[in-house]
Amino acid sequence: MKIVLENLTKIFPSRDKKAGKEVVAVNNFNFTIPDGKLIGLLGPSGCGKSTTLYMISGLQKPTGGKIFFGEDDVTELSTENRGIGLVFQNYALYPHLTVKQNILFPLQNLKGADKMSKEAMLERAYEAARLVQIEELMDRKPSELSGGQQQRVAIARALVKMPRVLLLDEPLSNLDARLRLQTREEIRRIQKETGITTVFVTHDQEEAMSISDMIVVMKLGVVQQIGQPQDVYDSPANLFVAKFLGTPPINVFSGRVKGEKLFIGEEAVLDVKGVKDQDVTVGVRPEGFVPDENGPLHTIPSNVEVMGRDVSVVSTHEASLNPQVRSIINSDHKVDVSAGVVRWTLKPHKVFLFNKDTEERILPEEA
Ligand code: ADP
Ligand code: MG
Repeated sequence: MKIVLENLTKIFPSRDKKAGKEVVAVNNFNFTIPDGKLIGLLGPSGCGKSTTLYMISGLQKPTGGKIFFGEDDVTELSTENRGIGLVFQNYALYPHLTVKQNILFPLQNLKGADKMSKEAMLERAYEAARLVQIEELMDRKPSELSGGQQQRVAIARALVKMPRVLLLDEPLSNLDARLRLQTREEIRRIQKETGITTVFVTHDQEEAMSISDMIVVMKLGVVQQIGQPQDVYDSPANLFVAKFLGTPPINVFSGRVKGEKLFIGEEAVLDVKGVKDQDVTVGVRPEGFVPDENGPLHTIPSNVEVMGRDVSVVSTHEASLNPQVRSIINSDHKVDVSAGVVRWTLKPHKVFLFNKDTEERILPEEA
């Protein structure tokens, strides 16, 4: 089921009636979510992710714009009639019911023509349980389950009605690091097996990048960029997106273009054909540095962190807009911190130039 968001907008009235301003939680969101894909809705806390999800679910009414499921305008449709499955951060299971009863619950509430026989309901419940691999836990109470298992039950409960659309709001936030990794792979597997169009909300860029077919990066209610994770990483539309994606984060310098050369500090570090003279903000991905004793850029190293396969060189530079410059290099390279200086060449495709005022990317230009 494709989902079309058309000029979707949500404005909350001010909480403080006297002083406050209204909040534009979602501002003119336009996107067609392709059928059968997993979309990662990504951005810092408060950027409007949950509000977008709640509007798709029908839990919140848009202030403006429309939502279509396939060709159907569902903007005015109630949550129950949208055919969605919802999973929240806190599993929200009924504590006094067993796992089986929790999963059966949405089916028992079906009315009229949708009403199911007891056998049919049980079959469905076991099918959903199998999908999330909790069949052997069906007679336990939620309190007898780990966080990861509880979240699987919540997902099974969301799937049991065979929704047209699956909506997940930070479903992994309450899990510890290991379970988070494991459960996100599970969610990806289930999504692929069922082919249900899925919107997955998270503030964790790595999580979104790792499982999404496409990501949507939001900031203050405004969509910044939509694309395949690797494309957005390789080709960020602006400084915000460049900074939001990637661990360790992108290094940011103030720089200057003069005579088609990019200067960081006094050093001409890269040829930038076709860019006119101007002050710029420069982003360099940590993996964009190559140690090179004749390289044009120098930094002052403070330490080297061994990370197994790679080595992370921490250094400083007077034009860096962050306290530290982080370079990730292959552990085959030797970097001598005691020398007091490291020289680098930059990989051109790992360097982005941004307009100093608008922070929009100016190089490389969009293909
Ligand atoms: P996210 O899920 O990305 O953290 P939300 O969608 O929850 O962000 O919130 C977006 C903005 O809307 C925030 O500024 C938040 O404070 C505001 N907001 C969310 N819900 C309400 C509400 N019910 N009333 C007023 N403001 C709200
Ligand atoms: Mg939220």
